[in-house]
Order: sequence, then C-alpha cells, then structure tokens
Amino acid sequence: MVSNVQPIERLDESSHVVVVGAGLSGWRLVEALRRDGYRGAVTVIGDEEHRPYDRPPLSKQVLTGVVDLHDTGLVRSGSPDDVTWRLGVAAVGLDIDRREVRLANGGSVAATHVVIATGTRARRLTTSAGKRVHVLRTIDDVQGLNDDLARVTPGSTIAIIGGGFIGAEVASSLTKRGFRAVVLEMAPRPLLGVLGEHVSSWLFDLPAVAGVELRTDQRVSDVEEGPDALLVRIDGSPDVVAQVVVTGVGAIPNVEWLNGSGLALENGVVVDSAMQAAPGVAAIGDVARFEWSGPVGSALVRMEHWQVANDHATTLARAWLTGERDEAPFIPYFWSDQYGKKIQLLGHPEPNDDVTRVLGDDASGRWLALYHRNDVVTGIVALSSPRALMLAKVLLGTPTTVREAIARAPWSS
Ligand SMILES: Cc1cc2nc3c(=O)[nH]c(=O)nc-3n(C[C@H](O)[C@H](O)[C@H](O)COP(=O)(O)OP(=O)(O)OC[C@H]3O[C@@H](n4cnc5c(N)ncnc54)[C@H](O)[C@@H]3O)c2cc1C
Repeated sequence: MVSNVQPIERLDESSHVVVVGAGLSGWRLVEALRRDGYRGAVTVIGDEEHRPYDRPPLSKQVLTGVVDLHDTGLVRSGSPDDVTWRLGVAAVGLDIDRREVRLANGGSVAATHVVIATGTRARRLTTSAGKRVHVLRTIDDVQGLNDDLARVTPGSTIAIIGGGFIGAEVASSLTKRGFRAVVLEMAPRPLLGVLGEHVSSWLFDLPAVAGVELRTDQRVSDVEEGPDALLVRIDGSPDVVAQVVVTGVGAIPNVEWLNGSGLALENGVVVDSAMQAAPGVAAIGDVARFEWSGPVGSALVRMEHWQVANDHATTLARAWLTGERDEAPFIPYFWSDQYGKKIQLLGHPEPNDDVTRVLGDDASGRWLALYHRNDVVTGIVALSSPRALMLAKVLLGTPTTVREAIARAPWSS
C-alpha cells in the first residue's frame, strides 16, 4: 500500500492557478476548472510556441496527410478565453513554499496553485548523424520529418528504429504514403516488454501483412551520414541504407526543471490519488507518477496515455474545486492504430501477467484477451474489437476472477 497523501487546498475567486506545460492535460484542466465554475486567474506556461494541440494524430492522420498539422489544436471556438498565455518560455524552477515558478527568461510567476503538466520528451539516440535522425513528439518534429520526406523520392527506404507504439504507427503511415518502411527492433518481438510474451507473439505478423519490413534482434550502434544516404549501423548485422531515419525509442519525463524543489522525483513527479504533490502543487498527465488502486492492489505508476491525461485533469479539478478525492475505480485506457489494426488496452497489466484469449483468433485478425495475476483479471487487450473491449470493461470495476469473467462473458452481450 502506498501512502503519500497530501492535503487538498481548495480554490476560490482570489486564487491563481499556474499551469506549467501547455499540452493536453494542462489544457483539459483549464477547461474543467472553467466549466465547473472556477472564476479566478489562470496562467498557462509552455516552452513550445504553440497553443495546446493533440499528439495522437501526429503519427497517424497527420503523417498520412489526412489531417493538416494545424488542425490538431485543442483550443477551439467556445474554449475558455480568460487565460493568460506565456508561450515559448520554459519553466526552469519551482519554489513550492512561495509557489513561484521561475522562467528561462529570468522572470517568474507567483501562484496560489501550481500544476506540473510538462509531459515527456522523446528519447534521442546519440549518433554521428545527430539531428538528422528524427523523433516524433511535437508539431515541429512532424514538420521537420515532412520537410525531409519531401526531399526524397517515393519508394525511398525509411528506417524506423524501435518497433513500439510510435515506431509502428510511423511505419504504418509512411507505408501508406508509398515509402518503404523498415522497422529495426532490438527485442525478439515488438512490444514484448509492454504487452508480454503471448500478446506480442499474436501481433508479430501484422507488419508483414501491412507491407512493412520488420527486423528483430537489431541493436543499432550508430547512424552515419553517407554521401547520398544515412547508414544505420547494427551490431552483428548488415547496415541499413536509408534516406530518412526516425526513432521511437521511448520517452523521458520532463522533471529536470524541478530539481531542488523538494518534490519527490522518481521516474516522474510523485503524487497521491488526487494528483497532489505538495500543498497547492499538483502534477498530471505523462509526467505524474500517481497512486493507483487496481484490482490487485495499489502502486505508484506513470502512464503515457491520452485518456489518462484527460482523467487526471478531471480528478484534479474536482479535488481543487470541492476538496474531495475521487473514490471511483480508475480504469486506464490506451489505444494504438498500427498496421491497419487497432490495439486497445484497459487496465494496467504487467507484461508477465498470465493471458487468456476469450474471443477471436489470429486468423480473423480480431480478438479479445484477459490479463490476469493470481487468477484476478488485471487488464483487457483487444485487436480491432472495440465493442467487445468496452463491454468487457465492467470486469475491471471490481476484482474479478478469470472463471467469473468467462462465465459472465460480457463481451458477447
Ligand atoms: C506521436 C504521438 C502519438 C500518440 N498516440 C497516442 C495514442 O494513440 N493513444 C494514446 O493513448 N496516447 C497516445 N499518445 C500519448 C498522448 O499524446 C500523451 O499521453 C499526452 O499528450 C500527454 O499529455 P501531457 O499533457 O501529459 O503532455 P504533453 O501533451 O506532452 O504536454 C506537455 C507540454 O509541456 C511542455 N513542457 C515541457 N517542459 C516544460 C517546461 N519546463 N516549461 C514549460 N513547458 C514545458 C512540453 O513541451 C509540452 O508542450 C501519443 C503521443 C505522441 C507523441
């Protein structure tokens, strides 16, 4: 059992909420506060020049060209407009006693309530080709990648280092655009360390069916600039010659600016179940390592899921507006669109949990499976079966054994 419960300080009309990080979770918090009646001051500080925008389309519809880069904005007509924006300037420090945020331009912003919503950044490989190797986290990253892709001919080889969710989505999108995508994965199977032995093996054939070349057990040692192309050097395997290289090798929580603040920083900002890090200081979204009560106990967890960022914002708004902690079960949700399929996950299973497939099979390309630990259902994963997944969600509301789950079979209602 985790116990790091912090007091909740309620907002009133004289409060000043300072949101650090102009991304999804920060903006959802502003929307929730205004919707639920908060009339005090709000300032949003963001190191990007852009107002908050949505990231999931970047590796999907934006990269295939179906959605314009500039149509991903989250601030729309009807959105709250009584907000002070401080964009293009990073926060570099936080005094939690004075509740003051220090800025890179030498300024500072005093608050009554501070929200840390600084998300994660893409992990970069150190290679000889430096910034010629792309990552995909921001609008500017996509712009840079698209500029490079515009310079190469259709059918060119694009090497994607890392076969996880981002790598798979980038490979799928670039294949749709007519490029030859080669995915270089370090593990014996993509997503092995996330979804575990069984589920990763059921997904193994998807890239080939979608026309993507997947090479596994590939440890990239460097990317070098050749005269006409980039050379991806791989330990013990031939080089891959590619016109463009993209990496999807994980993300790092943006917490360095909080060093010395006195907050607990352990793979993210440690918060309680109401997202409180210290009195009047909260953290939400990808950067938050929060106390989560699941079907088999409590733990401190950090998740990089779009829906979780939304849910954190709702939880925090409620806590600061009412002083109450949300006691309803929190069921994390994640999805990924890759290789023409939709992978969806409910709950927070461990990769080494047991797995039982309860619906569909590899041949049909649609299935539903239950993760379980000590016989209790810990998660539900679906391949292109969204209705069955949502019907099965009820199994995570209270601890449910596999036998009970199969007897009830809510997915077939
Ligand atoms: C390409 C891509 C595709 C994705 N697809 C999916 C998907 O299909 N399904 C899914 O569930 N999730 C997906 N996600 C994850 C989802 O987008 C994130 O979980 C979500 O954006 C997290 O929101 P956030 O507010 O925590 O962080 P962000 O949206 O990253 O916002 C954080 C903001 O804070 C800024 N910042 C950082 N440090 C500072 C500082 N010191 N001062 C000021 N500002 C700072 C950052 O630059 C950024 O603008 C995807 C993410 C990416 C990148």
